[in-house]
Amino acid sequence: MNIKPEEITSIIKSEIERYDKEIKTINSGTIIQIGDGVARVFGLDDCMEGELLEFPNGVYGMALNLEQDNVGCVLLGPEEGIKEGDVVKRTEKIVEVGVGENLIGRVVNALAEPIDGKGPIKAETTRPIEVQAPGILERSSVNEPLQTGIKAIDSMIPIGKGQRELIIGDRQIGKTAIGIDTIINQKGKDVICIYVAIGQKQSTVAYIVNTLQEMGAMDYTTVVAATASETAPLQYLAPYVGCTIGEHFMHQGKDVLVIYDDLSKHAVAYRTMSLLLKRPPGREAYPGDVFYIHSRLLERAAKLSEELGSGSLTALPIIETLAGDVTAYIPTNVISITDGQIFLEGDLFYSGQRPAVNAGISVSRVGGNAQIKAMKQVSGTLRLELAQYRELAAFAQFGSDLDRDTMMRLEKGKRLVEILKQDQYSPMNVEDQIMILYAAVNNFLSDIEVVSIKKFEREFLEYMNVHHREVGKAIVEGKVLTDEVKGMLESGIVEFKKKFLNDGV
Ligand code: ATP
Ligand code: MG
Repeated sequence: MNIKPEEITSIIKSEIERYDKEIKTINSGTIIQIGDGVARVFGLDDCMEGELLEFPNGVYGMALNLEQDNVGCVLLGPEEGIKEGDVVKRTEKIVEVGVGENLIGRVVNALAEPIDGKGPIKAETTRPIEVQAPGILERSSVNEPLQTGIKAIDSMIPIGKGQRELIIGDRQIGKTAIGIDTIINQKGKDVICIYVAIGQKQSTVAYIVNTLQEMGAMDYTTVVAATASETAPLQYLAPYVGCTIGEHFMHQGKDVLVIYDDLSKHAVAYRTMSLLLKRPPGREAYPGDVFYIHSRLLERAAKLSEELGSGSLTALPIIETLAGDVTAYIPTNVISITDGQIFLEGDLFYSGQRPAVNAGISVSRVGGNAQIKAMKQVSGTLRLELAQYRELAAFAQFGSDLDRDTMMRLEKGKRLVEILKQDQYSPMNVEDQIMILYAAVNNFLSDIEVVSIKKFEREFLEYMNVHHREVGKAIVEGKVLTDEVKGMLESGIVEFKKKFLNDGV
C-alpha cells in the first residue's frame, strides 16, 4: 500500500480543525470517580453552581464543587450501573421543579415527583429551587395573624403571616404536633400548607399524611418527603423544594404556610454531603457554610408588598435539641435567623402540661400586629401572671404559711395553666380562645375546681355557641372587645356558671 505523506497531513489537519470546533460545542464531561452518591466529573468547564447534570440511565445530579479541573456533584438518583468513564451532559439549567395547583393534595419526593401512587402530576410551570429572597422594597411588614389554633401560642406568642417562627425542643415532646395542628387549623382560611418531612421514618410520614387526610387537611396541603432511607442530597434538597412550591403561590398573591420538620436533620444531611464532597469540616464537623444553607432558606419567607400582590409565605422550622441545650451550633444558628421561637420543655410535657410551651422564654419578635385587638386585650397580663405563678409555686413548695393574696394568685395560676392545656388535633378558633381566656383572666373561674376546669371550658364554649352565637360573631367582626361585647360575654359566663355549678351539686 502506498501512503502519501500529504494525505496524512491533510487528514491530521482536518482532524485538528474539527477538534478545535468541537471543543466549543462540547457540553459534556466524563466521570473520573464515583461512589457514595458523589461523582467527580472532568471536562464540564462552563458548568454553573447548582446546575442539573444528566448522568447515564436517566439519573440526574447537581453540580456543587466547581474546582479547577473537575466538578464535584451529587447524584439525585441511584448510582447503580453508572461507572467511571461514563459521559455526563450539562443541561445548562439550575435544578428546577414543577409547581402549581396540581401539587395540592399530593405527597411528593424531594424532586416534586409524586410518591403517593395517585398518578403523574401535571405541573403548571417550573421554578428553580434556589432563588434570591425578596428584597426590602418588595416586602411589607407582617400585619395579619396566622392562627395556629393553639391557645398558648395564639395568646402569648402570636405568629403573623410572612413570619419565621422556630419550634424548638427535645425529642418526642410535641414539636410536630404543633405544626400539624397549625395546618389543620388553616381549614377554610385560604392558606395553602406545605409540610416538608426531612430524614423522618417512612412510617411517621405515612401516619402524618393519614392524619391530615382524616382531618380533611390534605385538600389544601402538599407533603414533601425525603425520608431517612433517602440519600443525603435528596434530604438536603427537600426544604428548598417545599419553599419553591410555596413561593409559586405566594407570587400569585396567596398565603402559604411551610413547615420544615426538621432542620436539625437537614443540617446533618448537608454535613454528610459536604464530607463526601471532601469540603473541610468545621465546628461539630459541619461545613463552614451551614449557617448560610438555613439563612437563605428562611429568608425566603416573606410578606410581599401590595404591588407584588400581598402574598405571604410563613415558615415554621423545627429544631430538635439534646437535653434542652439551645446553645449547640445548629440551634443557635437557627434561633438567630428566625423572628422568634416557641420553646417546648420536657419537664412540662411529662408533668402533663401539653402543649409543653414554656411561655417565659418563648418569644415572637414580630409582635403586636400579628394579633387581633381583642386577643391582645385578654392576653395582656397572661404571660406576667403565669411567670408570677411559676415563681410563687416554687416558693410555696416549702410549705410556709401563705397570705391570702398569694393563695389567690396561686389558685388563679393553676386555673390559667389548666386552660392553656390543649389536646392534639383540636385547634380552636380565635373567638372561642378569647372567650375562655377572658373568663380565666378576669377571675370568673375562681370558684370552679381545678379538676373541673377542662369540663367547664368544653361545656361553656358549647353553651356560648348554642345560646349566645352573637358574642363570638361580634368578636370576629369587630376584632375588639368593646364594653358592650364585654357585657354580653360576662353575662353569658355568669349565666352558664350558675347552670354548671348547679348541675355539679
Ligand atoms: P420527634 O422528636 O420524634 O419528632 P416530636 O417532638 O415531633 O417528636 P410529636 O411526635 O409531635 O413530638 O409528639 C410526641 C407524642 O406526644 C405523640 O405521641 C403525640 O401524640 C403526643 N402529643 C403531642 N402533643 C400533644 C398534646 N397537646 N396533647 C397530648 N399529647 C400530645
Ligand atoms: Mg417530630
